[in-house]
Amino acid sequence: MSDDVNPFESLQEQIDDAAAHLDVSDGLITRLKNPERILETNLTVELDDGSLDTLRAYRSEFNGDRGPYKGGIRYHPGVDRDEVKALSGWMVYKCATVGIPYGGGKGGISIDPSDYSEEELERITRAFAVELRPLIGEDKDIPAPDVNTGQREMNWIKDTYETLENTTEPGVITGKDIDSGGSEGRVEATGRSTVLAAREAFEYLGRDIADATVAVQGYGNAGWITAKLADEMGATVVSVSDSSGGIYDEDGIDPVAAKDHKRETGSVVGFHGATEEISNDDLLTLDVDLLVPAALENAIDADLAEDVSADVISEAANGPLTPDADDVLVDEDVLVVPDILANAGGVTVSYFEWVQNRQRFYWSEEKVNDELETIIVDAFDDLVEAYETHDLPNFRTAAYVVAIQRVVDAYDQAGTWP
Ligand code: GLU
Repeated sequence: MSDDVNPFESLQEQIDDAAAHLDVSDGLITRLKNPERILETNLTVELDDGSLDTLRAYRSEFNGDRGPYKGGIRYHPGVDRDEVKALSGWMVYKCATVGIPYGGGKGGISIDPSDYSEEELERITRAFAVELRPLIGEDKDIPAPDVNTGQREMNWIKDTYETLENTTEPGVITGKDIDSGGSEGRVEATGRSTVLAAREAFEYLGRDIADATVAVQGYGNAGWITAKLADEMGATVVSVSDSSGGIYDEDGIDPVAAKDHKRETGSVVGFHGATEEISNDDLLTLDVDLLVPAALENAIDADLAEDVSADVISEAANGPLTPDADDVLVDEDVLVVPDILANAGGVTVSYFEWVQNRQRFYWSEEKVNDELETIIVDAFDDLVEAYETHDLPNFRTAAYVVAIQRVVDAYDQAGTWP
């Protein structure tokens, strides 16, 4: 884990690495590397004891060349301007990698939500929605869940926006509860694409994910669903962790029982269905076939990468590997499926939710999952084709080559005006 790597600088390095393989002018590269605009604001709210609290909140609209800005809202103490800029940029290239018609954005509040009551969180979320109101809209900028936010927060933002606008516009935000206009399959979508992308990677190597041992770092929504679906595909989940530490069992851990334990006690640590307790760094260097970082940025830096023993990494988190870690993993022949493909299931099913909201016509879970699988498999194939035809160092650069070209094409086709 490295705190001194700035995720925005990582994003810019990833773009430069890929742009070197493309015919893009320096002026346009500067556009591709920087956000169009950022809202940075105070949320001043009354706490339950009557005192006031002021929180810093952000929304970065990075690039809208391919469609409305799209991306989640994070509640975490580590949220700052540069993190939000990086996360919003990753959304641009994620949406382009999977070919859905969006630009990229991201928002966040610098907050530890566990310090606040549900009523306080509702007031904070509605205060943020008021600040976001001039920016968002189903054709403008469409927020969604991210770390420590979920259906509840999305429902509140939708309600605040619709009430103030005196309209119904469920497509203003995605990741809502089903009865508030959410989509079947949205909660599972990030984990589902992480596993589908890993399945394709093993197939690319001539192997079967069903034979794989798996370690998952982080047991929030993305991590735990990844573990559950990998287990359902026949893989053996030998280790999982959260911010309190990890657990290991060479015979396999039941992901659902581990989740139940976390729900009851607050952590996977202490789960009786595992033989050993290990640290997060131990988990990341386990000798497993598939490693899934599903927590935060910079989980694996160059030093830790030297000790990674997995054959395949599928990134459920955004930005879990530093650029220097990427270089080490190329040398070590570890196949990394980048975040902008592996975790793109979340935004892809957000896109399905938005389509359903606009049509007021809702799909079955089977249809959602089938359409998601088609998009992830096609995107993986596009990535492999770019990797092989441009002779690129790794899959991350291949994904950026595909994605940047799509953004550049949209920019060029729009022409010069005025
Ligand atoms: N926060 C998720 C991500 O990083 C989902 C974004 C969305 O659904 O718009 O991809």
